[in-house]
Amino acid sequence: MTKNEQFTVKIEDFSSEGLGIGKTGEGFVWFIKDTVIGDTVLAAATKVKKNYGFARLVKVLEKSDDRQEPECVIARRCGGCQLQQMSYEAQLKFKQEKVYNNLRRIGEVEDGLLHEVFEPIVGMAEPFRYRNKAQFPISRDKEGKIIAGFYAGRTHDVIECEDCLLGVTDNKVILDRIITWMEAFNIDPYDEKTGKGLVRHVLIRKGFTTGQRMVCLVINGTELPHGEELVGSLCGGNECSDLCDVKVDSLSFSVNMERTNVIMGTKIVDLYGPGFIEDFIGDVKFRISPLSFYQVNPVQTEKMYGAALEFAELKGTENVWDLYCGIGTISLFMSRKAKHVYGVEIIPEAIRDARQNAEINGIENAEFYVGAAEEVLPEWYEKHPKERIDVVCVDPPRKGCDEKALATIVQMAPEKLVYVSCDSATLARDVKYLRSSGYEIKHVRPVDNFPQTVHVETCCLLERLRNAKDYIPLKLDMEDYYKIKDAEEDKKNDKNN
Ligand code: SAH
Repeated sequence: MTKNEQFTVKIEDFSSEGLGIGKTGEGFVWFIKDTVIGDTVLAAATKVKKNYGFARLVKVLEKSDDRQEPECVIARRCGGCQLQQMSYEAQLKFKQEKVYNNLRRIGEVEDGLLHEVFEPIVGMAEPFRYRNKAQFPISRDKEGKIIAGFYAGRTHDVIECEDCLLGVTDNKVILDRIITWMEAFNIDPYDEKTGKGLVRHVLIRKGFTTGQRMVCLVINGTELPHGEELVGSLCGGNECSDLCDVKVDSLSFSVNMERTNVIMGTKIVDLYGPGFIEDFIGDVKFRISPLSFYQVNPVQTEKMYGAALEFAELKGTENVWDLYCGIGTISLFMSRKAKHVYGVEIIPEAIRDARQNAEINGIENAEFYVGAAEEVLPEWYEKHPKERIDVVCVDPPRKGCDEKALATIVQMAPEKLVYVSCDSATLARDVKYLRSSGYEIKHVRPVDNFPQTVHVETCCLLERLRNAKDYIPLKLDMEDYYKIKDAEEDKKNDKNN
């Protein structure tokens, strides 16, 4: 097979990145974007390796029952949603099976046990418009018109789209007003090629419970001309009077004069409002500034951290550790029901937010440390070997937990370990390690935090066995992890080429 050659193939599986997988000949594997399991497609080879290749969808010859027309007209070009061509029901099934199969194959959890502990995935009733944050690059189209939109997958060409279906409808109203203001005062969008022009990106956030809105313009300059007029148009000054059903509560700009892909600059200048908005997850209030991290799907986040809380079964007497705690969402959630919560997180700004969030909620039993979990936890344990820890919660990044962190948890011997995961392959790897160390898996609940995309989160409970001391931990099998990552890297490189 050579490049551009066309062939017919049935899609039988789906990669973790959302590419359809089909086989031809002697087990030659094809990865084909925009397809659905069950489709028979005509495809054209784009890259051919020894045992596998990538191809582009030319035509769907026989539609899968799970196939549907994407709701968004630019779904295929944008690349942000990998699964819009699949019915939501099929998306949920795909994600649930992905978590199950990873625990089965990588985690080596037996089918019998998995059947017992595995719960149905928690989906959304309305799987669109769930994101509370959007970042739009601003550019000019070929006719010179100012546009806001998204980068076309893998490129820096902006496709006009002010109303991403994962975001709120306010976004379009706000972007229209900003573009009208730019046109009225001859303010240029930034041009990546020349490094000239002012407005690079618009960041919009909304507190779903409070209804508060934040806008931050990322600019290639230190001052924003006609800022007052922009405040007038967005924040309910005279000029927009009763038209202002979409009123912005916090308006700022961020200075980013570097030639970089990083969106936000570090300096923020407030134009209107207190510099932050507030929102709630459960009954915990969060203060969100332009640079703070905040979960993008608060509705599902509440369900996921609700599962973590449910699994922890706190009675008020427990000492809890929250590793990889970010801005302390889980810590603060749990602190209401626990005696004391310790959080650790590597990014100092996130810990600053966590401490501030504890303060504005009047929470005094949560304590936060900056540093790597695998360093802070062992050091703390060495100093406090006698302190009883009842529950440890972890919410690591995609690469999962560090072996040192896991080994220390096992030594600390909490009764319950709640594992919140955004990558079920590394969850499975860590579960295998923990099961070899005297912990048993009791609940697995996948949660769909990101409908229309390939991502899936999982909340998992492990409990310490009575005879845990008799167990000898396996080495953490990093190899499994690297095998997976290498394959993914391979795919990514291929995509970038
Ligand atoms: N529950 C958190 C989000 C967790 S995301 C919240 O709601 O805010 C994973 C977090 O782990 C990120 O904030 C990341 O900065 C942090 N992190 C990554 N590596 C780490 C390490 N080695 N030690 C501690 N934290 C780490």
